[in-house]
Amino acid sequence: MNSKDYIELDEKYGAHNYHPLPVVISWAEGVRVKDPEGKSYFDFLSAYSAVNQGHRHPRIIKALVDQASVCTLTSRAFHNDKMGQYLQKLCEYTGYEHALPMNTGAEAVETAIKAARRWGVEVKGVDNGNQEIVCVKENFHGRTLAAITMSNDPDSTVNYGPYVPGFVRVPYEDIDAMAAAINANTVAVILEPIQGEAGVCVPYEGYLAAVRALCTKHQVLFICDEVQTGFCRTGKRFAWMHEDARPDIMCLGKALGGGVFPVSAIVADHAVMQVFTPGTHGSTFGGNPLASAVAMAALDVLVDEKLDEHAEAMGQIFRAELAGAVCKNMVKVRGKGLLNAVLFKDGFQAWDVCLALRDAGLLAKQTHGNIIRFAPPLVITEAELREAIAIIKGVLVKY
Ligand SMILES: *Cc1c(COP(=O)(O)O)cnc(C)c1O
Repeated sequence: MNSKDYIELDEKYGAHNYHPLPVVISWAEGVRVKDPEGKSYFDFLSAYSAVNQGHRHPRIIKALVDQASVCTLTSRAFHNDKMGQYLQKLCEYTGYEHALPMNTGAEAVETAIKAARRWGVEVKGVDNGNQEIVCVKENFHGRTLAAITMSNDPDSTVNYGPYVPGFVRVPYEDIDAMAAAINANTVAVILEPIQGEAGVCVPYEGYLAAVRALCTKHQVLFICDEVQTGFCRTGKRFAWMHEDARPDIMCLGKALGGGVFPVSAIVADHAVMQVFTPGTHGSTFGGNPLASAVAMAALDVLVDEKLDEHAEAMGQIFRAELAGAVCKNMVKVRGKGLLNAVLFKDGFQAWDVCLALRDAGLLAKQTHGNIIRFAPPLVITEAELREAIAIIKGVLVKY
């Protein structure tokens, strides 16, 4: 079978809920992937930042294989000998008192919403059923009904009603609108510290700290969805750390699984996490020993390879180089660390650029038609980055 055959099978038997770039990946290592024909590409999407540690990092694969050979799943009906060590490591890494393990990013967001709603009743004193959560425009929090209720992207939301009550949406970066939306029933504000799917929208300096202060003032929980921005992607462990903006709850996923396994969690201090009591929330696979072993290795790699500092340094090079790219339709390059995007003029079809990049040996995906996100695995070396930049510049000059 060749790439064309594999794509045909996807089209024939799969639901058509994605529009992938026409490329098939059958091998991957570090920052590079190959198609069945043997052509090699730089991976500049990193599975939407789930592969921060690079494809098949040897330490993570070893943890996976070792754990798979002794015990994989127990359910939370019993204890296992890995989950506690993993949650301790995650709490130490994030600086929170407790962690609640789930599997996907959307589940982490759901868990945060449930925690905030319960906290609103049991701690803040809001009547059950009246809890409100403030979200921001252009957000992406996943694909569950609550997550799409927060979304204003018609593709994500159309004809999925009835939507979930209790959400109020305000413009991103508008602290006055957020303040006006908060009332006595407001239990939380949720946002991405940098909006990834919206096109790597970096807020003005001081916005996150202002949101934090507003939440503190009105006894409202600040929830940061760090599913995409977390784990060193933006040059810090978490993107909120660029400011004095420590959230009450962080939603985590993607790179927590080290690129091999779906692992997610929320972290929070006792005052919030204590709202969960036996039977009030759960997941069959959450905290399973295989996921725990993989996530521990994923965290160790981030720390031992100093991927936060490295992402910061590589990001500086990337943005400086791309800012000097020759390209008629490019408006600007923006981002933090190794979460960056090139913004083209309104109406420009970045899909064509992605196809040209593919042909030149680099995989990236456009978002919102005229924006391309560039987010390689954080383990990329400076030499690899410069090679990739040359490919990108060589393509951009034709547009
Ligand atoms: C990817 C993502 C999610 C959803 O994660 P899944 O694992 O796909 O459910 C939620 N929030 C943000 C910010 C994301 O980037």
